[in-house]
Amino acid sequence: MSIALSIIYLISTITFVIGLKLLGHPETAKKGNFISAAGMVLAIIATIFLHDFEVPSTNYILIGIALLIGTVLGWIIAMKVEMTKMPELVSLFNGFGGASALLIGLVEYGNNIGDVMQSSTVIAAIIIGSITFTGSLVAFGKLNGSLNDIRLPKYNLINNILILGLIAFGGYIVMMGNSTLLIYVLLAASLIYGLLFVFPIGGADMPVVISLLNSLTGIAAAITGILLDNMVMLVGGILVGSAGLILTFVMCKAMNRSLSNVIFGAFGGDAEVGGAAVGKSGGSIKKTTASDSAILLNYASKVVIVPGYGLAVAQAQHVIHELELLLTKKGVDVSYAIHPVAGRMPGHMNVLLAESNVDYDKLIEMDDINPQLPNTDVVLVVGANDVVNPAAHNDPSSPIYGMPIIDVENAKHIIVNKRSMNAGYAGIQNELFFNTKTSMLFGDAKSALTELVSELKNM
Ligand code: NDP
Repeated sequence: MSIALSIIYLISTITFVIGLKLLGHPETAKKGNFISAAGMVLAIIATIFLHDFEVPSTNYILIGIALLIGTVLGWIIAMKVEMTKMPELVSLFNGFGGASALLIGLVEYGNNIGDVMQSSTVIAAIIIGSITFTGSLVAFGKLNGSLNDIRLPKYNLINNILILGLIAFGGYIVMMGNSTLLIYVLLAASLIYGLLFVFPIGGADMPVVISLLNSLTGIAAAITGILLDNMVMLVGGILVGSAGLILTFVMCKAMNRSLSNVIFGAFGGDAEVGGAAVGKSGGSIKKTTASDSAILLNYASKVVIVPGYGLAVAQAQHVIHELELLLTKKGVDVSYAIHPVAGRMPGHMNVLLAESNVDYDKLIEMDDINPQLPNTDVVLVVGANDVVNPAAHNDPSSPIYGMPIIDVENAKHIIVNKRSMNAGYAGIQNELFFNTKTSMLFGDAKSALTELVSELKNM
């Protein structure tokens, strides 16, 4: 490798690390993303033009066409995607990352690999790349609602046997030496395992799985970096792999579930994900109006807003900020309670509220806001459901039992805004709606909050 290329790779690697650090805070995240992306562009251009092997000029044309198609498609998809569809997009990108790793593995295998170390790396790239590819496609299908959970009888046993079989088979191929037929059998079995691995996982565990697949994509990229003797690919892969793994464990902690429980536990059992409410709660609910809610908020001294997925769907982030500013002007102490898995991606609420320039100091994490709730006059829940469901504390039979939640029922009054009595992502009823302290403000979040703001302005 030329000195110039090594130096550029080093610069790119540094931009990845700096970018990752800056991504850790909403205020600097945009800059971090830009710096890392610039480092990636630099690495790609340098790899194409500064490598030290002969490339026929027609290959440059093919590389140029591939880059153009990828860039245009990526640009269009990223510009068009709605914020709520972000996890689906991440899933798809993970899948492409896995597919690249497996294709590189296949090409390198064809290049007559020599020692055991090299062939083990190729086999690992093919196995991990294939699992990530098909697993991510299933995750994509589940997130956009086109695929349901599929559980074969004894699926855990089958999956465990299959993964052990895959590893053993990979080892056998390494020992046997070059065999194209066996490598394709391994490829097919790995692709099937990717499907079977994600098919049974459902409900609220999907975000964890996507994060895990993201981490696997990183590991696959790191392995291809070893194969191609490419330092920047190796480091980039390690960064994605480790960041994805850390996020996976953070999310498991936020849901109070172990990783093995996520993978083998099949969250949700028979609960219908995303379906209508099927509660045991019964009881009656109390409806309220925008004007009654405005009175309650106007005379409160402390208000906590709990945003959830519905706020994102309704794109009500600007109007909620307007409501917050209005109440603050009236002397009310207003803050937002942020649950780590509110919405449909980690940090979803932070990103959403940052879009409308909500002051970051007003966003209070779950562990910090919970002790403040008994002293809170009104909690306004907007489009959140699972993250405020007391069944997580009270009902051992509930699929979300044990998940930490925002304890809104400890507040003096609770106003819940949503459109109907339908369930949230986990597909379960919420006894909070039947609490005597709760008033239901039905309607789309944007229109309900707009009405609330105009009522408050008239007070
Ligand atoms: P939920 O999915 O539990 O509930 C959202 C609620 O918003 C629904 O009950 C819905 O009720 C309401 N809603 C939908 N559209 C609107 C609208 N236009 N206006 C007002 N309300 C609306 O959301 P939470 O944020 O409470 O919880 C997130 C869930 O998603 C958790 O189960 C989490 O595990 C899971 N998840 C999280 C991910 C993450 O990384 N953050 C990723 C994937 C899943 P109605 O239809 O009656 O209006």
